Amino acid sequence: MNYRRLILAMALTLPLAGAAQAQADLSNVQVRAERIKPGVAVLFGSGGNIGVSYGEDGTVLIDDEFAPLTARIQAAIAGLGASPVKFLVNTHWHADHTGGNENFGKAGVTIFAQDNVRVRMAAGGLVNGARTEPAPKVALPVVTYETGLTFHLNGDTIDVIHTGGGHTDGDSLIYWRNANVLHTGDMMMHRSGFPFVDVNSGGNVGHLISSIDQMIALTNADTVIIPGHGPLADRAALLAWRGMIATAKERVERLKDQGRTLAQAKAAKPLAGLSNAPNGFVSDDAFVEAIWVSAEGHHHH
Ligand SMILES: [Zn+2]
Repeated sequence: MNYRRLILAMALTLPLAGAAQAQADLSNVQVRAERIKPGVAVLFGSGGNIGVSYGEDGTVLIDDEFAPLTARIQAAIAGLGASPVKFLVNTHWHADHTGGNENFGKAGVTIFAQDNVRVRMAAGGLVNGARTEPAPKVALPVVTYETGLTFHLNGDTIDVIHTGGGHTDGDSLIYWRNANVLHTGDMMMHRSGFPFVDVNSGGNVGHLISSIDQMIALTNADTVIIPGHGPLADRAALLAWRGMIATAKERVERLKDQGRTLAQAKAAKPLAGLSNAPNGFVSDDAFVEAIWVSAEGHHHH
């Protein structure tokens, strides 16, 4: 696979953010809509999975992938019989979830996100080594919140909740109470290997586990889960996801408590065989390091 194809494949499937994806060729990407419940759908394209609430009160979008896909996203929404987007919620600041903000902002859409999302988008920064430039004003959330807010529309009550983050310091989950649908943002990535804990964006493995526990408490066996990346999931998959992360954390912290260095902990290969997708985006070593840094409480603001 040559470099261009590799970058394209990564953009299609992996939770990268930043320059590599911005440069990827998105011209062949199709945005596919799937109805989940009456008035609730998911759009799969390239980047983070998009949630949609639609109906008599207007269309709400959860995340918006990359700028070159905006027209295809709008076409997929029209294909559902939904009106043009009225409100947009960003689950976190990464470019594969907020890349369409400038286009939607210019179209008059009101953008919502947790306080830290706006701060990080305005400042720009490094994500997994790739630079994200500061966002223009029109792309920034205009309504922010610390712990959450609730939409009352389209026959449902839709909670947007910041549970303390974990993937970053600005993650929100979205829960449709009546439809019983949960969008996890990147706090869950299904069948994609280890989680990406972006410690440079305030992510922390301990916070991630506590956020997952709050998601588990919201759900039951009938809940349909839209993960940040990967196919639709359910509560059993969320429980397995939690188990994998907690086991990894325990193994790495045991080595740390024994006085090993980070290099020694990586060399001990404590996560061998644990990943649900061995060729996933986050390597064993990268996850060991994220757990290690999380345990030290390092935050790079
Ligand atoms: Zn992300």
